Amino acid sequence: MERKRRKIVILGSTGSIGRAAVEIISHAPEDFEIIGLAAGNNIGELGLQRREFAGARFALRDEDAHAKLMAEDSDLAERSTGIGTDGLIGLISDPKPDLVINALVGVAGLVPTVMALESGCDVALANKESLVTGGEIVDRLLENGGARVIPVDSEHFSLSRCLKGHEDETVEIILTASGGPFFGRALADLKNVTVAQVLDHPTWKMGRKVTVDSAHLLNKGLEVIEAHWLFGYGYESIGVVIHPQSRVHGITRLRDGSLMAHLGPADMKLPIISALYHPGMVKFPWEQLSLEELSRLDFHTFEPERYPAFVLTMEAAGKGGTAPAVLNAADEAAVEAFLAGRIGFLDIIDWIEQALAAHKTGPAGTVEDVLEADRWAREFLNERYGGPAA
Ligand code: NDP
Repeated sequence: MERKRRKIVILGSTGSIGRAAVEIISHAPEDFEIIGLAAGNNIGELGLQRREFAGARFALRDEDAHAKLMAEDSDLAERSTGIGTDGLIGLISDPKPDLVINALVGVAGLVPTVMALESGCDVALANKESLVTGGEIVDRLLENGGARVIPVDSEHFSLSRCLKGHEDETVEIILTASGGPFFGRALADLKNVTVAQVLDHPTWKMGRKVTVDSAHLLNKGLEVIEAHWLFGYGYESIGVVIHPQSRVHGITRLRDGSLMAHLGPADMKLPIISALYHPGMVKFPWEQLSLEELSRLDFHTFEPERYPAFVLTMEAAGKGGTAPAVLNAADEAAVEAFLAGRIGFLDIIDWIEQALAAHKTGPAGTVEDVLEADRWAREFLNERYGGPAA
């Protein structure tokens, strides 16, 4: 009997996670069918994917890129679900996929996550910003039952493996952090680091935004918030440890004091393939972790005071409501400005600090609340600094 192929939509298909998901699915055409692909403006990569998955519909963020594509081939019009958020919603609405892989970067991922869950569709979530900005909304949707969020972020994937069957006995969850390219260096030394130095992550090859966030450990703060919403632990029960080799990704402490750790290669294909086959498990067809690689595993105490960006995320998490959305928006704007060469690496922290200090925290119970806070933060920084695109 022929197996039913699962219908998959990949949001952010041209990015680091998206391309890995496409590669995995290319190797398993008997199990999956890609019915939707979304990208920002990379029509070159999207074109290759569209040719491979000829039946897939697509959406683009960028109006010019969309117009260019249509000018090249007007037959494509019927495959396009449109531009921006409307295009993303179109991809996940009709026909309904079995799984949405949300590999978008930034708050742009929130609406599709919420829409997919509302329609009862499971989400394999790489887009941590969905939970950082809209954790309360997603949490409420999950409480209603039906659809699931399957973690793709490596630490959260590992934690979910450790927690399975041990939820009631686990008293603490611990995320590992490689420490990034500047581990061991004083903050004051980083004033003049270049974009190339910041993007030179020692263990992971990722998109530019998450790589910048990882260099000053803001990303680890975002991951703590993500873990809070995914697993329901209070912030006092979520720890961080520095582990430069990036082989142990998540650790849990049981009530009896013992630790459970989950190890894997620094390869996002493992969490992605696991999300695709969730709750089942398949053989990982790429290089597996060898015991020899594990001959040396270092762990260092995490000292939050060395990482002001991390401290700011925890401040925002403590305030709750719209504060994490403001932190995220300020970070997105600042990282864009840094990558464009407009501000220095440490200015990113200043931008976030100022936006958070000026913001009056409100409730974040609806998508509109979150998007309004996001808009406020960008406008605030725009007025103060002339805007990321200036
Ligand atoms: P990338 O920057 O590599 O990719 C982002 C993708 O989203 C690209 O396909 C981009 O298109 C697309 N995109 C961005 N905005 C829009 C939009 N508004 N509409 C449609 N498409 C859009 O990011 P990553 O893959 O590195 O990260 C994605 C998410 O996964 C982030 O939240 C990150 O924190 C998380 N994550 C990433 C990991 C990694 O190893 N990369 C590890 C763990 C988590 P285009 O290419 O055209 O610009």
